[in-house]
Amino acid sequence: MGGVDKAIVEQCRAIYKGEKFLVNLPKEGLQKADILTLFKKYQSLSKVNWRGGRASGTVYSDLATEVSALIAEVYAETAYTNPLHPECFPGIIKMEAEIVRMVVNLFNGGEECCGTLTSGGTESIVLAVKAYRDYAAEERGITRPEVVVPVTAHAAFQKACQYFKIKFRTVPVDPVTFKVDLKAMRRAIGRNTVLLVGSACGYPHGIIDDIEEIAKLGLAYNVPVHVDSCLGGFLVPFVAAAGFPIDPVDFSVQGVTSISADTHKYGYAPKGSSVIMYAHQKYRKHQFSVQTDWPGGIYASPTISGSRAGANIATCWAALLYYGVNGYVDATRRILETQRYMKRELLKMKGIYIIGDPQLSVIAIGSHDFNIFRLSDMLSKKGWNINPLQFPSAFHICVTLMHVQEGVADAFLADLATAVGECMKLPDKSAEGMGVVYGMAQSIPDRSIVSDIACQYLNSIYDTSD
Ligand SMILES: *Cc1c(COP(=O)(O)O)cnc(C)c1O
Repeated sequence: MGGVDKAIVEQCRAIYKGEKFLVNLPKEGLQKADILTLFKKYQSLSKVNWRGGRASGTVYSDLATEVSALIAEVYAETAYTNPLHPECFPGIIKMEAEIVRMVVNLFNGGEECCGTLTSGGTESIVLAVKAYRDYAAEERGITRPEVVVPVTAHAAFQKACQYFKIKFRTVPVDPVTFKVDLKAMRRAIGRNTVLLVGSACGYPHGIIDDIEEIAKLGLAYNVPVHVDSCLGGFLVPFVAAAGFPIDPVDFSVQGVTSISADTHKYGYAPKGSSVIMYAHQKYRKHQFSVQTDWPGGIYASPTISGSRAGANIATCWAALLYYGVNGYVDATRRILETQRYMKRELLKMKGIYIIGDPQLSVIAIGSHDFNIFRLSDMLSKKGWNINPLQFPSAFHICVTLMHVQEGVADAFLADLATAVGECMKLPDKSAEGMGVVYGMAQSIPDRSIVSDIACQYLNSIYDTSD
């Protein structure tokens, strides 16, 4: 790649230029005041005004004073708790059970329905894939498992398949609606298929797959169906009451066997919690891990972690109780009103288009007239931190409570309109900043090269040289 990889990694590291990294433990512990001074410096490294709504997704809560104070107080009292020790922390265990049941009920789960709390969406998905692999092995004798997943489904499904040696089969989406192509999904199902996946909604374009039809396929071929509602999980149960109804995507749909919903996204809990729900304990059982003969005792754990942060459970529980149904309906209404307003305004702009017809909080934008990454570069220069997409080239903005703040949507639309105007003046001009990287990364046919560069970036995270 002749130095291109280095240039990319350097671009990612630019923010640390001139920064000294600590590499040795201080011999004497530092004073509290000195630690806090240092801490504030680290906190000020960010150039993105995410509190002012300049970042897509990222922070979903508006960090309103009262809820922030509540979370901080609960965190302070539970920072050292661990549900691995139920005698010491029975309250934490009770909160976890209550979170799971409350969320199962939001998704119209019946008596048989169950779940666990995890550390995040990825863990929820990884655990579901593992559970279905082992369920299929036991129930159907499948030794060469495959999962069938829309190309737009979250990367965590492929990660799970890599971890657990499962064949990962992707299904294209319809070129207009960007919902999974159901005919292609049907064709992809084989005797080794252990799981079908649909998203509600998908991360890239915010599109909700046709869950009812995927569930019908699941029933017809006797294959479990997972609905990934990690992103949409705390919008979906409230959209109807907020005035923006969608087709059912929950356990009321026959054939849906599990759902993931992230409390740390639109549940407005701090990062570190998600709920994985199953229609029946017969699936969840295969998620659990038990070691009966360990000299350390009989060891049983519901998720990947051993010790778990009790504070993540307690703060999640506090957030759920703080908002309540009405709080979530209200937040959902404000977010969807903002998304609909932005959608209407974007549709009026010449030179760009919206991918599919997103019904929840995400809007993905592409262009047939100019290099869309040139547009995203211009937005970055204006302080917007939006998310690039590939195949096709596009970017998205994920609307959160940060963006319903007065003036944020209009500021975005105004900056976008100006930038689109610039792009239309010189439609053949290429991108300059990170846009070059996004464009180039797609055009390299050998994906192992792209993978190597990404690994170099991961290495660079742990680079402490200045
Ligand atoms: C965020 C997200 C996930 C994964 O969640 P993490 O909490 O980042 O691990 C899964 N699916 C979708 C659709 C998401 O947006």
